Amino acid sequence: MKILLFLLDAFSYDYLDRKTTPFLFEQEVTPLIPVFGFKQLAAAFSGRDSLLTGLIADYYYDPKRSPFRWTSWLPRPIRLFADVFARSRLETLIKHIRVNPYVELLPHANIPIEYSRFFSVDKNPFPRDAPILQLLEEKKLSYRFIFYPSVRTNLEAFHMIVNMHKRGKLPDFLLVHFPSLDPISHIYGVDSMRREMLTRNLDIMMLKLFRTLSDEHIILAFSDHGMCRVTKIVPIPRRLWREIGDGYVFFLDSIMIRFWIFKESKYEFIIDNLEKMNGYVINCYDAKLRPFFGDVMLVCRPGHIIFPNYYDQNPPKAMHGYLTMNHEVQRARTLAGILLSNVPLGLKGSIWMYELFHIIKSFIEDM
Ligand SMILES: [Zn+2]
Repeated sequence: MKILLFLLDAFSYDYLDRKTTPFLFEQEVTPLIPVFGFKQLAAAFSGRDSLLTGLIADYYYDPKRSPFRWTSWLPRPIRLFADVFARSRLETLIKHIRVNPYVELLPHANIPIEYSRFFSVDKNPFPRDAPILQLLEEKKLSYRFIFYPSVRTNLEAFHMIVNMHKRGKLPDFLLVHFPSLDPISHIYGVDSMRREMLTRNLDIMMLKLFRTLSDEHIILAFSDHGMCRVTKIVPIPRRLWREIGDGYVFFLDSIMIRFWIFKESKYEFIIDNLEKMNGYVINCYDAKLRPFFGDVMLVCRPGHIIFPNYYDQNPPKAMHGYLTMNHEVQRARTLAGILLSNVPLGLKGSIWMYELFHIIKSFIEDM
């Protein structure tokens, strides 16, 4: 008996219907509500809401350990010049060197070189000390996590599992990422034919995997989040751009702006500007969480995105990561993911991502 987790990236609860997903539609599927931000597995593997851990994004404020601290050796005019005129050429040059650690010298996101030295990056989907990981170690179980880019498409993920099963190579605990739906939905939108075809194909893959593996193994298929149509693009006010670096810095994720403020006199100026932006203005008073949330943060309403931001080259057509209030989630099933298993879970109604922890934990404890 092994535990198999299939992570169906960006599969919205809204996609379930008799025509597109005949197999999944017939199963007992629970809406799985994502926590705020982009680190859903951190919540699922620790049992804690992202609002308590601060694990919401890859980049966070940490000038002392920033991998980009070296940029402060460059004279300021050169940094500014590079940002305006030479950014893409510099990146191409550095990518051509292809020798670690030089490849990592520039941020992958579009963070201006001028501000990159303030930020550190952690691209791991969950912390190394996550309780699920500790439990697997304690119980001396073999485990494997296969994420993008080790697996590049849904089809590759499917074949990988089938082959491991055929060869008797399944570990005690396996998580495989089905990555394709997320980028396709961002680029083409949730209403696109491409998105629909991927959903159909995933349904067939799940049918085959559940049929083949159910007798011997515990299967848990879940998605980390749904997707929401982008309905409004929110630009950051020019005044905030003009004064960045003078008493504050900010980080632009697609659904939020986080501010770290060093001059108290700037506080009012920032709040004044944010309040005009039709989002949620959130203050953070917990010193431990400051590197993650900033001193103040603007969070977009579902469907709105900040653009330009440090990630997207073009505005995406669909987005996720939003702060989901209970009442909104009830209405907006589109933001929720799905959860199903070949063993009865006894769930009534939806559950939050951090509650998934207890289900995974009890499976491992029973091994
Ligand atoms: Zn995404």
